[in-house]
This record gives sequence, C-alpha cells and structure tokens, in this order.
Amino acid sequence: MKRAYWMKLGTYTFQPEKAQGFDFHVLRVKTETGIRIPPVQDMYSNVAIFADNVAVRDHPDWISRSLLGPAKMGNNNFNFYWDVVCATQPEHRAEQLNYLADVDGRSLGVWLNSQYFAEHGHCICPRCSSLWKKSGLSWLEWRRREVTEYIAQVREKVKKELVLCIQPDPVSSLERYGVDFDDLAKYADVFNVVMFSKNYATPWYWEMLARAFKKLLKKPFYISFYVFGPGDNPKNVPTAQELLTASVRCARAGANGFLYLTDGASQIRAFQKAAVEMVELRKKLRSYGGQPVQEFLDFVENWRKII
Ligand SMILES: [Zn+2]
Repeated sequence: MKRAYWMKLGTYTFQPEKAQGFDFHVLRVKTETGIRIPPVQDMYSNVAIFADNVAVRDHPDWISRSLLGPAKMGNNNFNFYWDVVCATQPEHRAEQLNYLADVDGRSLGVWLNSQYFAEHGHCICPRCSSLWKKSGLSWLEWRRREVTEYIAQVREKVKKELVLCIQPDPVSSLERYGVDFDDLAKYADVFNVVMFSKNYATPWYWEMLARAFKKLLKKPFYISFYVFGPGDNPKNVPTAQELLTASVRCARAGANGFLYLTDGASQIRAFQKAAVEMVELRKKLRSYGGQPVQEFLDFVENWRKII
C-alpha cells in the first residue's frame, strides 16, 4: 500500500514470529531479564543494554547505585522492574558492543533499550564517583557525556539501522537518564518512544506526549504501544478501542509510526481482528485528522484481507 505520509507500522514481540499485515517486525533478542534468544535474519533485534538481571546475578558488584539504594528490582524509590548494571561498567560495555555487532550482522538492525543510566541519582559507585571527579564537569554534564560517548561507540558497531528507544519523559530525560535528545539524534536513524501502559483510557496524555516528542526530536520517531505481554491476564490488557484511539491521536500529533508489543503473533492477530471489527469506532476516528490519521486507518482496514 502506498502512503504519502511517512508512516510505518511494526510488531514488537518476545517470540520470533511475524504476524502478517505490518511493514516490519522487531524481536526482543535480549530483554531486561538478560536472557538472550537468537536473532532472526528478517527481523530487527531489540536489545536491553544496562537493564540485565543475568549480568547483575553473575556480578552483583556491577549494579548501579544511588543514595536511594541500588538499581534493583523491588527498590520502590524508582520504577525498577529489573536489575540495572552501572552505565560505566567497562566489561559489560565491551561485551555488549561485541554482542551488538554480532546481532546486527544476523538481523535487519538494532533497536536499543536501557542504553543510559538507571535513573536520577545514579550511579554513585566508586568508579563513577572517580570518573566524575576527574572529568571536571557538572554531575549532569558528566552523565550526559558518558551516555553519548557510549552511543557513539555503539554506532560504530551497528552497520545497519540503529533505533534508540527513549522513555516517555520529554522533560527530564537528562536529569533522570543522562539522555540528551540532540546528542542521540546524531547517532539514531530513528527514535522509538516506549509508551507502554496497560491502560490507554486517557488519550489526551498520550497525544500530549507525542506532540512534545515531535517538537523536541531531530529525527523521526515511532511510538510503541503495549498490547499483550508474556503471561498477561486478558482482563488486564488495553482494549483494542483504547489502542486504536491512542494510535490515531498520536498519528495526528506527528508520530512516524507505531509498534504493537505482544508476546507472539497470535495476540497481534487477536488485536488486528478486534480492530477490524470496530467499524463504528474507525468511522468516528476518520474525523480526527488529516493525512496521517487516514493512512493509519487505511492500514488497519487492510487487515480485513488477512484475518
Ligand atoms: Zn557506577
């Protein structure tokens, strides 16, 4: 299907399965659990760098530290759903660079998650404290430099497409993660704003986030939505109505495409089927905006042929 506006739709899965009816597929080859699965030649590879339960289990002293405790799952001072390695840990950094080169060679390209500091106030381990003091920079500037320089090294290893995932915080990414969007735009082909939620019932906020990123990012950006994660109870996942509405509202705000996260292909197909069946909703959403909205809805309508 020909689209005038630059918009692409993809799947984002834990299983190496490609649902029909999308432009591309992203496979989570290394998640924050640290567990790795083989890349697939005609899928993109998503790698979580510093969030890595396996690395922290094998090297407890590598964990990122702060005055509010370590970056350990269960430290509720932060939003940690996994353990995070210190972002300056040299052995982890080097191993991940080699791993990325390998994964890049065996797939369509690399999408990075967690390629930055764990959260605000991280990391104050002895190495980071010493590196910061030696740098002569402010704490925030030093963290920013550490992140940016590492991404520059990643860029040298990844010969195909490099997509940098960023947290859905357009205001405080520097203070929280050491992420400067302009710095990363020099290395990213595309950004991906991870807007994972189990509830999209407040579309105003998702649209506002999309508008903020459209204003700030100097490269195109995708938005990833949460559909159905591994082990989810079907009662606790977003409805197709919410997903379609949030997608349309972010499309009119200028997002360049969407990814839908599921465990495997069967949950994608269930979403496609539900979306196709929502004839009245899609009719109403047609009135929400111009070309990008129409193209998104045309895309969804095309799923009729494959479900
Ligand atoms: Zn550290």
